[in-house]
Amino acid sequence: MFVALDDTDSLESMCTTYLATELIKALGVYDLIGLPRLVRLNPAVPWKTRGNGALCLRLGIGRGEPTMVGELDDMPVYSYGRTAEEADPEFVLTVAEDVISRLARTEEGASPGLVISAEKPAQRFYWQAVRGIVEKTDVLQELQRLGADLVGWEGGRGLIGATAAMAWRPRDRTYEIITYRARERWGTPREIDPLSVRAMDLERPSTFNSFDHGTGRMAIAPHTPCPVLFGVRGDDPRELMAAAFSIRSEPPARWLMFLSNQGTDDHLIKGAPGSPDRSYVFLGTVATVPRTIAGGHVLFQVTTSHGPLECAAYEPTKGFRDVVRGLRPGDRLRLFGELRAEPRTLNLEKLQVIATAPERRKVANPRCPVCGGATKSMGAAGGHRCKRCGARTSDPPVTAEVPRTVAPGWYEPPVCARRHLSKPLKRMGL
Ligand SMILES: [Zn+2]
Repeated sequence: MFVALDDTDSLESMCTTYLATELIKALGVYDLIGLPRLVRLNPAVPWKTRGNGALCLRLGIGRGEPTMVGELDDMPVYSYGRTAEEADPEFVLTVAEDVISRLARTEEGASPGLVISAEKPAQRFYWQAVRGIVEKTDVLQELQRLGADLVGWEGGRGLIGATAAMAWRPRDRTYEIITYRARERWGTPREIDPLSVRAMDLERPSTFNSFDHGTGRMAIAPHTPCPVLFGVRGDDPRELMAAAFSIRSEPPARWLMFLSNQGTDDHLIKGAPGSPDRSYVFLGTVATVPRTIAGGHVLFQVTTSHGPLECAAYEPTKGFRDVVRGLRPGDRLRLFGELRAEPRTLNLEKLQVIATAPERRKVANPRCPVCGGATKSMGAAGGHRCKRCGARTSDPPVTAEVPRTVAPGWYEPPVCARRHLSKPLKRMGL
């Protein structure tokens, strides 16, 4: 029995993953089969909430050896590899509907959706929702085909994300342990020792996006007054548990491990950008010298197989902008980023400099072809004239190659400025 939900939070508060812990508590008569899944969807959709993440749980009576995957208010949560007996859909529906009705932030603009199904939706619902935009009518048709139970609140936009999360069959996967604060601490400053986060980042190589060594800032805690204390991401579930428990902080009231598509680049469409509100990976050649505009954003143009395109490295990407500023016309790139509609600009997420073009700078006027003397420019008329004998020349000026500041290689923004879905270079073996 799969239970999926989405769009229960708002920009202000709550967090869909916290609601999942409430759901697991309320449905405690059942076991988790596999891990709860935290599925991030197209980060470019205009109506997303904070992280555009949906959730899917599989419930039943477990079979085989259980694994501890969390603790909720001093109660351990176990996960099983296989199902001995399916959960009762009617009971799950009643309990889940009650939990979401109580906790979802509909008055703050959330539009929750809940889907319960014995069978998974077609896989394309995941790929469409992570890379593009899915119509609710398509989703409703699929859910009807499956004979799924569904509830939508305030328009039920969350039914789309819930269906997509349930449809996910991982090609690539990562894990995240999320810890939650005791209720009386919600809204107060989080107590986390950044040095312990730094040490964890250095000692646990299978974790990623935890600490920004450039700025000395940790990236595991949200900046909103939500119930999350911190989240640690990684590739190895066992090392992840040791990593999360090595962080010195206020005592978490709950923790839970999720299976996730975070850090997988699943959102990228291969090919030159077409429709906006989507993300792409494609090849291009730098066409203009990058310029820094007000606010510290850096813009330049590339030539792609679909024509010219404006690219941007925005201010929050900090040192990544220095790489972008060093690009020169003729440089061959692989670009990763999200295409915005207005203005039509690619927001760079990552960059491979495949080859740099030679950059030359004028060092002198051409020499006189007749007497070898120095020449001076004839200005608007074009060409140069010898200062000694008066002969004219149309020879180009003398140039010298300038050393380039950017070398071929891979570049990404610092940890704090990365997208949930962007695959860190660390995960690419780079
Ligand atoms: Zn001359």
